[in-house]
Amino acid sequence: MARPAADCGSPARAPGLWAGESSNRCDRRRTCSTRDGILASFIGPWPAAGRAGASMVHPRPDINASVLLLRDGLASLLQHLRDDGYLVVGPTVRDGAIVHDQLRGIEDLPVGVGDEQAPGRYRLRRRADQALFGYAVGPQSHKREFFPPSIRLFQLRRGAGGPVLTPEPPIDRKLALIGVRSCELQAIAVQDRVFVGGHHVDADYASRRRGVFVVAVNCGEPSGTCFCASMGTGPRASGGFDLALTELLSGGPHRFVVEVGSAAGADLLARVEHAPASEADHAAASAVTAAATANMGRHMDTRDIKSLFYANQEHPRWAQVAERCLGCTNCTLVCPTCFCSTTVDTTDLAGATATRERRWDSCFTLDHSYVHGGSVRPSLRARYRQWLTHKLASWIDQYGTSGCVGCGRCITWCPVGIDITEEAAALRADVPVA
Ligand code: SF4
Ligand code: SF4
Repeated sequence: MARPAADCGSPARAPGLWAGESSNRCDRRRTCSTRDGILASFIGPWPAAGRAGASMVHPRPDINASVLLLRDGLASLLQHLRDDGYLVVGPTVRDGAIVHDQLRGIEDLPVGVGDEQAPGRYRLRRRADQALFGYAVGPQSHKREFFPPSIRLFQLRRGAGGPVLTPEPPIDRKLALIGVRSCELQAIAVQDRVFVGGHHVDADYASRRRGVFVVAVNCGEPSGTCFCASMGTGPRASGGFDLALTELLSGGPHRFVVEVGSAAGADLLARVEHAPASEADHAAASAVTAAATANMGRHMDTRDIKSLFYANQEHPRWAQVAERCLGCTNCTLVCPTCFCSTTVDTTDLAGATATRERRWDSCFTLDHSYVHGGSVRPSLRARYRQWLTHKLASWIDQYGTSGCVGCGRCITWCPVGIDITEEAAALRADVPVA
């Protein structure tokens, strides 16, 4: 039974307190009831630190600490992000797939939805539980948040004294990404190297990327096409997040073990009902990702992989895969690390204004490698070889890391089911690595 609000031990607060207001009125009976009911019975007495400080709403966890959050706590966390002016973007169900869109609350998450993935196949399924993150990555990666499919670079218009150029202003928004998987974090790190890690910084990417708040989710159920464990990129997030959740569905109430990755994450948690995570919670969270590692749908042998590809530029397998490949570009569009783009100029009918746009492109198109007199890679054999060799070999020379994070999207969304892990294995089958 819930204690009266007056002696519940939590500092009294009313809506708007987070903006600096104060109030002696407590209107959080439902939350306190939850805390003193389900959570207290599960974790034991609420920690004294949470009751003592008049100015501390909840104990602020240390960076790298782990705490326990109930489903209501996650809802509160998202609401605080929205109250703070963040555009909260996360997974939701639309058109038979899990895509990324603006979230109004946890009810917009794919509640009780799972997925089945195989080469050329993607289906949603109803789960037997109310998991919020019980699926693997969908067709969209987060690269579209920082490297959108199409952006305007600038506009030119005729002025009295000649052409007037209007550049695009930098993006000014507060973005919070919810449910980011470990492979996705690694892919963002790869794209950071490409767009802002060198001498030439992409200003648009930098303005979209700056200050993003990341709530990661450690994977519990990889799909049939996942192989992040082979690539060393998952299923547990190792950095690049403000908070990282592991969803626990058994052994107690629906709850999350939350790892704090930054000061911003700790500050946010200080405003949300939470409790210390116990040894049992840690063990349960570790078991989730250990099971995911054991259940990867695919595997890739990455030993000496750069040499493997460089030594096999004339392997007959390239011609075989080219017979199946449609050159549709799906694999590059869904890939979270692919970054090819092209520029397109258009004018209005009166010739008064001209616009330059940057759009996603793909190394699978003939035009992408077109130079004077023709395309450098005129055959599908050459284009597929270029894509895979860049991903798994020359990317390492360029950026010091693989261009593949093992998300499996290119396998799932290839209409003819071409499988990057099978292609790499086929090369290796003929060329034993010392
Ligand atoms: S190459 Fe395929 S598996 Fe690797 S990151 Fe890109 S889409 Fe994912
Ligand atoms: S490998 Fe598959 S997804 Fe990629 S271009 Fe060829 S047919 Fe399309």
